[in-house]
Amino acid sequence: MTTVFDFTVQGKDQTLKDSVETRLQKARGKCHVDYGLHVNITDEPEIRLWELPELIDEGFTSFKVFSTYREAGMMVTWEQFRQILSRVDERGGLLMLHAEDNDEIEATTREFLSANPAAPIFHALSRTPFAEASAVFHAAEIANQFDASLYIVHLSSYDGLEAGVEARDLGINIYLETCPQYLVLNEECYQRENGHYWITTPPLRTQDDCESLWDALASGEIDVVGTDHCPFTIEQKNSGEGFFNRTPNGLPGVETLFPLLYTYGVAEDRITLEQLVRVLAKNPAKIFGIYPRKGAIEIDSDADLVIWDPNQSYTITADNMHGRADWSPYEGMEIKGKLDRTILRGQVIVEGKKFLGEKVFGELLRASRHK
Ligand SMILES: [Zn+2]
Repeated sequence: MTTVFDFTVQGKDQTLKDSVETRLQKARGKCHVDYGLHVNITDEPEIRLWELPELIDEGFTSFKVFSTYREAGMMVTWEQFRQILSRVDERGGLLMLHAEDNDEIEATTREFLSANPAAPIFHALSRTPFAEASAVFHAAEIANQFDASLYIVHLSSYDGLEAGVEARDLGINIYLETCPQYLVLNEECYQRENGHYWITTPPLRTQDDCESLWDALASGEIDVVGTDHCPFTIEQKNSGEGFFNRTPNGLPGVETLFPLLYTYGVAEDRITLEQLVRVLAKNPAKIFGIYPRKGAIEIDSDADLVIWDPNQSYTITADNMHGRADWSPYEGMEIKGKLDRTILRGQVIVEGKKFLGEKVFGELLRASRHK
């Protein structure tokens, strides 16, 4: 990985500008790869609207909102979504949506909590593909009214995907993203020992859903594969004390993104190597305003390169991962190929297993306007 886009976390009563500054302070002098920021808008969106133009001018052009998590105080209503979308789009930013219909989810969650709060599979059953599709559909309708662009993060299901593709067919400029967990893992993980570790939102789905997402990658309907990286530890995962709705949501994903996509996509002939490069590098760089500095091998582009040796193999274990999580959702999975080296702006930062980036030189990337 040579570039990451992290999300800001907006505290209660915190301005967006302050949330950006807080995040940047964590990265400055510590980030070994180049980095940009997506700005989460979760607290009292109406009074943050005035901040958007200035942030976009400063190169923070992508924003994320949630159509769910009402109880956690993070949800935007559709009316708030409408206001944010029009403001972001008219200034040349891009709005990203975590698409799940909250009313639908609250109703089903209540139902399953009274049935059996301890069974992690109810996390999946309470957050349905229908809830995902319905939010995508609703958001696309609003985007259509303003002729605005819209980015749907971490699509998990066939239904959600279809809603996105239909919107695109209607002429709406909608970008679609999925993540490796929705491609190579399915809801059977919730039946495993410690199945609650795999609680992530949206949840893992059926194998049919996985296959439909692979097909959409191959056809070019999905633009980006992101990670939604959330490296919760076992201790954090256990803090939900058996309640599926209280377990921290999320899976670690940065380190395994390329290996999983290569192994289960390219080596298994689901997608080509060129398609992999497009969804991991070229498309996200273009969509998030850092192309052609990133996402291209060209004169004047950064010499960010990953050299992968397809003739080797290894097995993913928590022990050979480097992130904060002390477990891996992909434990025991075989990887075809192995990292030879990672090069950032012409300098080798990883060679084989050796980390060579003693000097921190990751830079903040300021994005250009979306249009
Ligand atoms: Zn999300």
